[in-house]
Amino acid sequence: MNDKIITGNPAHAAGAAALDTLVRPAIRALSAYHVPDATGLIKLDAMENPYSLPEELREPWLSALREQALNRYPDPQASLLRTTLRATMGIPAGMGLVLGNGSDELIQMLALALGGPGRTLLSVEPGFVMYRMIATVAGLDYLGVPLRAEDFALDLDATLAAIEEHQPALTFLAYPNNPTGNLFAADSIARIIEASPGLVVVDEAYAPFTDHSFLSRLGDWPNLLVLRTVSKMGLAGLRLGYLAGPPEWIEEIDKTRLPYNINVLTQASAVFALRHAEVFDAQTRLIRAERERLAKALAAMDGMQVYPSEANFILLRLPDGTAGPVFMGLKAQGVLIKNLDGAHPRLRDCLRVTVGTADENQAFLEALAKAV
Ligand SMILES: *Cc1c(COP(=O)(O)O)cnc(C)c1O
Repeated sequence: MNDKIITGNPAHAAGAAALDTLVRPAIRALSAYHVPDATGLIKLDAMENPYSLPEELREPWLSALREQALNRYPDPQASLLRTTLRATMGIPAGMGLVLGNGSDELIQMLALALGGPGRTLLSVEPGFVMYRMIATVAGLDYLGVPLRAEDFALDLDATLAAIEEHQPALTFLAYPNNPTGNLFAADSIARIIEASPGLVVVDEAYAPFTDHSFLSRLGDWPNLLVLRTVSKMGLAGLRLGYLAGPPEWIEEIDKTRLPYNINVLTQASAVFALRHAEVFDAQTRLIRAERERLAKALAAMDGMQVYPSEANFILLRLPDGTAGPVFMGLKAQGVLIKNLDGAHPRLRDCLRVTVGTADENQAFLEALAKAV
């Protein structure tokens, strides 16, 4: 993924010309999604749950894995896992459910099912970067409607006007939003669903950290789907996302799914984890409490603007021109967060920190006090 073309060698130069003619221009223009090396650092950059599986659950988990037949293909429907998810996550009866290798794969499946020349994928910005990336790869036009500058709320008039003009096949709204952490007004989302000629996907990747959801409203509109993941609740390593909505839509989207996309170890591990959901609920409560403590401590610092968050991260705005140096200063002290300065015009001077354990958050606060 990180191989560089060596220039100066004629064989490589010919290779580069072939790249230009053979690789689609939209792909040539992309940069691969970059994941920074976090070796040896306190990792507060990727919205991971900082807690691992409790010691007393490790043996029973390994026993469940030991029973899996690695020589056989996985259950293509992941039936047991889907039944367990339906019960644990409260997916309304009568709604369809399809699983993905992470919710990223489900975004891709949606784009493949509804994409095509001249079709538009709409989202809001600053938002989750994979919407644009996947739209580009799948050959859809991408449109990002700016959020309000002062509070990252939906600009309802601008969004409705963009829907009217571009008639998007697909609209994605992250609820809460990444990287801003806020919840959009539910009645604005309802207006967007009603005005949309295409599907509206409410992406609830951060559902464990908020009391608000559109899951129970599935079926209220024929074009609403809800996307979820187990990544942020503490199972990012499993790669499992799920998409729920009207069965006739889910059936079509399921046709773009590769047959065995959820491997046996993920199916078994996720069923095991969901049967112990109370463990993850307890960890989530700790993270929510730490979020409030961290937000208070940050708000007490000079010149720091702290945006309200319903997710497991906090967006900060620093004094003019200091985000880059502060980010580097934190890294030099062994703390990795996310520098968003330069990622979008509305994110100037912004940093994003994932809520970690109490100790990690304390280390971050102390390093920050030295770095500013
Ligand atoms: C993290 C994130 C995802 C991706 O989750 P995976 O299931 O790990 O692929 C999707 N949407 C949003 C808004 C996210 O922040």
